[in-house]
Amino acid sequence: MNQQPRVLIVEDEPDIAELVAVNLRHGGFEPVWARDGVAAQREIDAVLPDVILLDWMLPGQSGLTLARRWRSHARTKGVPILMLTARGDEPDKVQGLDAGADDYITKPFSTRELLARIRAVLRRRAPEQAGTSVKLGALLVDAATHTVMWQGQPIKISPTEFRLLNYLINHRDRVHSRAQLLDKVWGDHVFLEERTVDVHIKRLREALGAAGAMVETVRGTGYRLSAPPAPTRQD
Ligand code: CA
Repeated sequence: MNQQPRVLIVEDEPDIAELVAVNLRHGGFEPVWARDGVAAQREIDAVLPDVILLDWMLPGQSGLTLARRWRSHARTKGVPILMLTARGDEPDKVQGLDAGADDYITKPFSTRELLARIRAVLRRRAPEQAGTSVKLGALLVDAATHTVMWQGQPIKISPTEFRLLNYLINHRDRVHSRAQLLDKVWGDHVFLEERTVDVHIKRLREALGAAGAMVETVRGTGYRLSAPPAPTRQD
């Protein structure tokens, strides 16, 4: 179960990869290193990363080719890509962004800036992993401290229910199928029965108490988290 965002570093220079990995680990990320496109693809096939840091100049396929390929595949197309490169001139930057990179960082770079940029792309692409707090009605979910508050009172919640709630509140008002929730909350490398989702939804509603009604079952489709409807007069 992935608590920390997994960052795939595709970089052929061990010194740079190591420096980035150490800083990522300190910054609360889980780094995975691949030296080239082949190794990177193997990592992606095994476990889909949350972010890819992609060096431009690689042995074999270039970062540009890899970015284009990952953008065109359904499985990888939603994964943010940050291109790392020693080339800083304008036409290359444009090429990198055209290939589907979300951001572009020129070597040498400050690792603090790199981490800030990773957090920024995660906020844009996957808000549930950015470690920010989200409020919906009287319900507050804080990903940095793993706390949930309802009407100002803390709610006791287990880690799995927390991740489920954090995902739902960051993608509220949308209906999520059980398969999508398994993929996004448990990770796509975990093979579980869809019934698992129902079990955790039930536990989540119980943990939320009065706020449990915000977790809606959409028949035949899945689940949705929405703000409670404004009180209406009962006739
Ligand atoms: Ca390189």
